[in-house]
Amino acid sequence: MSCWYCHRQEWDIPDMGTCTFCGKAICTPPPRRPDGWAHGDECSQCEKLVCYVHMCRHSEENHEIEALQAFPKVGFAAGEAALAAAGSLLYGPHPPELSVNHHQIEAMSNLLISMLPGLPSLAKVLSDRPTESWSRDHNMLADTEEILIQFHRPFFTRTMVTGIFVLASRTAGACWLYGRRQGRQPDVRITSMPEELLNELAFRVNHDVELSEELVSSWLPRPDYDRARDIVVAISRLEMPTEPEQIAEWIDRTDRGTFKEQYFGQPHRSDKGGAAAVFRVDQSQSADNRAAEAEEKEAQGTEEAIEA
Ligand SMILES: [Zn+2]
Ligand SMILES: [Zn+2]
Ligand SMILES: [Zn+2]
Repeated sequence: MSCWYCHRQEWDIPDMGTCTFCGKAICTPPPRRPDGWAHGDECSQCEKLVCYVHMCRHSEENHEIEALQAFPKVGFAAGEAALAAAGSLLYGPHPPELSVNHHQIEAMSNLLISMLPGLPSLAKVLSDRPTESWSRDHNMLADTEEILIQFHRPFFTRTMVTGIFVLASRTAGACWLYGRRQGRQPDVRITSMPEELLNELAFRVNHDVELSEELVSSWLPRPDYDRARDIVVAISRLEMPTEPEQIAEWIDRTDRGTFKEQYFGQPHRSDKGGAAAVFRVDQSQSADNRAAEAEEKEAQGTEEAIEA
């Protein structure tokens, strides 16, 4: 049988069993998808299979721990992919021209739903009023009372993506740490991050230290200390809350407060196209960015034609 979630995206990826919570067939690490993502994993505490949508709920209700600790492999994949996606948007050569593409939306959404702050906290703050930046996906879990939240382009403003970048760096560091402690080392074949940088991110989980700019710079395709400095400052932002419920509230406040802020991919006057991805892991997506930009140009052209 194919993984239920992969099948929904028209991927045929063999499942490794069903989620103990919702009964959906799920794929697990080591990932068989080219993007390195898996829709579920064995819980490190009780060895039951759980899908990514239910990881936070399972960890809290059954073990009173965070999903980061119970599912470090999937957590690491989520953190790493979201870090690359948010990093490319924030620290690309021409950030305002770079569109958020559907791979990046998926990577950042996977992190928010599965790990930090997780679906239960998000649903508490967001479920009353869908906006243009997010909606409910009823089909997803039609057989349960739960909703799944889908994020859309207007959600991904600069402030929000900076927050996601910080959450992603925490997640990658924490899962790297917990994974190794539990003998469940995350799969590093999918990452472009130097192991020393992962070790520093892991060390930061329990110690308030700055990352080394030199290491961050080594993660970039070309050494760039100015950009590395921006990244270190973003990751060190202390005003980002640590508890899932407070993170969800921050997301809600940011979503409501930034309605005038431009989002990544909003049609832009100086849209020149062809922006290159910055992070090595994200290079495969630059073609996708160009496609998204072409789509937007086409949409703009149509609007102009209608106005004329
Ligand atoms: Zn899957
Ligand atoms: Zn499930
Ligand atoms: Zn468990």
